[in-house]
Amino acid sequence: MNKNLHLKIFCFLSVFFLLVSCSNKNTEKSSDSHDKLFETYKANFILELWEINPDWATNIGYHEFDDVLLVPNETQLRTELSFALRHLDSLKMYNLDQLSDNNKTDFYLIKNQLELTQFYNQSLKSYEWDPTYYNIGGTFAYILGENYAPLEKRITNFFKKMDKIPAYYAAAKKNIINPSPLHTQLAIEQMEAGLPIFEKDLKDSLKNVQLPDDLKNEILKRSKISVDSIKGFIQFLKKQDKSKGRDFRLGKELYAKKFAYEIQSQYTPDQIYDSAVARKAFLHQEMEKIAIQLWPKYMKGVEQPTDKLVLIKRLIDTLSLQHTKADSFKISIQQQLPQLTEFINRKNLLYLDPKKPLEVRDEPGYMAGVAGASMSSPGPYEMNGKAYYNVGTLEGWSKQDAESYLREYNNYILQILNIHEALPGHYVQLVYSNKSPSLIKSILQNNTMIEGWAVYSELMMMENGYGNPDPNASTTTPEFWLMYYKWNLRSTCNTILDIGVHTREMSKEEAMDLLTRQAFQQKSEAEGKWHRVQVTNVQLTSYYTGFKEIMDLRTLWQQKQGKNYTLKAFNEKFLSYGSAPVKYIKELMLK
Ligand code: ZN
Ligand code: ZN
Repeated sequence: MNKNLHLKIFCFLSVFFLLVSCSNKNTEKSSDSHDKLFETYKANFILELWEINPDWATNIGYHEFDDVLLVPNETQLRTELSFALRHLDSLKMYNLDQLSDNNKTDFYLIKNQLELTQFYNQSLKSYEWDPTYYNIGGTFAYILGENYAPLEKRITNFFKKMDKIPAYYAAAKKNIINPSPLHTQLAIEQMEAGLPIFEKDLKDSLKNVQLPDDLKNEILKRSKISVDSIKGFIQFLKKQDKSKGRDFRLGKELYAKKFAYEIQSQYTPDQIYDSAVARKAFLHQEMEKIAIQLWPKYMKGVEQPTDKLVLIKRLIDTLSLQHTKADSFKISIQQQLPQLTEFINRKNLLYLDPKKPLEVRDEPGYMAGVAGASMSSPGPYEMNGKAYYNVGTLEGWSKQDAESYLREYNNYILQILNIHEALPGHYVQLVYSNKSPSLIKSILQNNTMIEGWAVYSELMMMENGYGNPDPNASTTTPEFWLMYYKWNLRSTCNTILDIGVHTREMSKEEAMDLLTRQAFQQKSEAEGKWHRVQVTNVQLTSYYTGFKEIMDLRTLWQQKQGKNYTLKAFNEKFLSYGSAPVKYIKELMLK
């Protein structure tokens, strides 16, 4: 791709646009020509986005910039900032009232992305304190390992991209100031784990390609230089003073901004925190009621604990013993899918396109070891790509590990997992969003809406009686509610944890108490979560925040519709806007 050509097209369009926008001033409703201009603007915005983020482009399936490694020096940081400012300026020329709903949400997503770039560049500055910023192994591994083009071509791009590695790490060393010891340690581990890509995998791949011997030698020489640069940077990180260094906690101010751009919620972190704390109290209260009700049925003759959390846990542990066997794990997941479809149709929850059935496949090799089920969606550039439901097996697991896993994904939770991942969770949302395709939304999709929908769909199924053997029941059984609440506590407590740790000095002891005693998690799961919350931030809040926003919107919509309200209409209308932030869907739905 020719950089100058992009810029020329872009400038030409801006001028052209100015003329048109003046003559269009009096049009009130969405106008075709305004939309057309915005479509052209979007296409150029995306090309420039890839030019300035070549690694992102590679990983999302756009391969024009596979051979580029941008050196993160001052010039590059300035280029990024001016890209953001220039486009924020261009956006001012578009009149939101004249854009279609689809373009309106695209507009908001682009604007947010540019503001996020500006925030990263000027305020967050993770390139100064988070050395994992400089872990480039992933993209190189992708180029070498993903079979999207002939190996010769991929290796040639790999070779060209390696050229800038020494300059890359020279700039990285200059940028690092007062790095967080925790992130420094993580970066060292990640980069050491990535070395075999250059030291071994590249060499192995070279044996399988037809390239001139001279070139092969050049490639090997350059890989040696690259490895030396990476090792030099690892040494540099190891020498950093671990007793000082930036706190891994983001702090209130940065957190609030990052939350605003990444979650794109109508609420602040404090509001979401308070809401999650209230939700936790509600869940405990409901769980206690159910546990007392179910105690005689499952614990006849056993004395009832006085501590309510202990009481609840005893019941959860007992119900968790109802689980499938290791060798029928996969088939149990598969058998549930037609039942979910039947239930959604019978209860008229939303329209399921019979021409778009969910395709189930065995978990592909690279995912091996990840049991359970997950959705794979085609990337924005996979024109004929399909979505798959990957189902894994417990083959080769030790008896003990399998038993512990099967108790976690017991007969209740396994069904909730299927609801979340497939029907009517992620898969159904994907089918609906594909009805109004938008490249912008598939690139800049709002994960809070996507996860929020999946979490909302779990509750919606329970409310309508899913899992109740009585087909006329309007709600599910107490057992299912108890297990659902336990599952829902996870996303609720993830939110309390993330905001608590990053803005309220929550200690490890408090965190472990929250996750194990109050959310009934295993110690190993809680330890993993503690590690995750230290090295990431904000993302853990997306599930609960999206869920709350959708629930709030449903209430408002129901009030507005009055006696014309139907759940089906709400669900279908909500999904019709694609993967946009809930606050903008709300604006469009309630206008
Ligand atoms: Zn068992
Ligand atoms: Zn999900």
